[in-house]
Amino acid sequence: MTAVELGIPRISGAHAEPSAPRPDDPALIDTFGRVATDLRVSLTDKCNLRCTYCMPAEGLEWTPDERVLSDDELVRLMRIAVEMLGITDIRLTGGEPLLRPGLEDLVARITALRPRPRLSMTTNGIGFGKRAKAFADAGLDRINVSLDSVDPETFQRITRRDRLRHVLAGLAAAREAGLDPVKINAVLMRGVNEQEATSLLRFAVEHGYHLRFIEQMPLDAQHGWNRTDMITAEEILDLLGTEFTLTPSPARRGGAPAERWLVDGGPAEVGVIASVTRPFCAACERTRLTADGSIRSCLFSTDETDLRGLLRRGGSDDEIADVWRTTMWGKLAGHEINQAGFAQPIRPMSSIGG
Ligand code: SAM
Ligand code: SF4
Repeated sequence: MTAVELGIPRISGAHAEPSAPRPDDPALIDTFGRVATDLRVSLTDKCNLRCTYCMPAEGLEWTPDERVLSDDELVRLMRIAVEMLGITDIRLTGGEPLLRPGLEDLVARITALRPRPRLSMTTNGIGFGKRAKAFADAGLDRINVSLDSVDPETFQRITRRDRLRHVLAGLAAAREAGLDPVKINAVLMRGVNEQEATSLLRFAVEHGYHLRFIEQMPLDAQHGWNRTDMITAEEILDLLGTEFTLTPSPARRGGAPAERWLVDGGPAEVGVIASVTRPFCAACERTRLTADGSIRSCLFSTDETDLRGLLRRGGSDDEIADVWRTTMWGKLAGHEINQAGFAQPIRPMSSIGG
């Protein structure tokens, strides 16, 4: 099939004007009129896989434990976010969030916040098989499992670990526990797993999982991203078109990054997130909290604001909320991957939280 136009109109002008006076608005507004209502929280930068597009095989140092926010600190910041800043959706991520001890209890504390946020998690799924019911009971609403191949050899080549069966068990358990929808995130790389685009979609359709392909972004810890190795959204659609008929989904996209397509007339769908070739920054509703307590307005921000110091010095809820608002007010129009002089942020995806 021929790839169809993807994406959301971009904001013109590369930089915000943080010097413009900020209106007296409690929400996380920015100078481009966007409002952040979706909080991504990284719970740890540690991981039990080593996906090649994310981490080097070895040698990546973890954040020292004393710098990682405790459960009490995290819950306090999330409470401020939902009570004072208008956050309606929280996603737990990492690193691998399931490596955080006692995560079920943390989930229960988050879903007890009011107004209750919708709570989701992005995970590699390892170990979820045994814990899915406990997470569902604690109030977890949705899950995204990362899976780039259903072939054990290719899976091991990408993740550098022989754990495919554990990921598949995690997916199955999520569905059995009633989490709905169960989404799969997949990244395709040239010469590695691009030939698996159709088998991944076949697998997802057969099992009732919602598959989304994400363009590979320059966020790996080893700074090895290369534009020519990235499989573009257009290529993904062409690859899928060799076996499936894709038609645009009538579903409303809103601020969601995925462009959705009906598979063979539906009801199954597939999503494509064209983060690099068709940025959706103009519709971004996200704010980010790293495991060591920094606020970031964007995955690609080259600066961030430390909240851990203020938190541990006894800062009040009002002070914390104000610092958070000021950080988001300075959010740039968009990432600049496609512009000359683009600088990859020092923090990798595994430390920011994907
Ligand atoms: N460990 C969990 C997992 O893999 O789902 C959560 C953290 S991971 C950083 C979050 C998501 O980011 C995953 O879906 C992963 O595939 C994606 N990701 C990591 N590095 C990426 C990159 N360079 N480009 C695009 N997506 C990436
Ligand atoms: Fe770990 Fe997720 Fe990064 Fe893979 S993508 S190395 S599972 S943090």
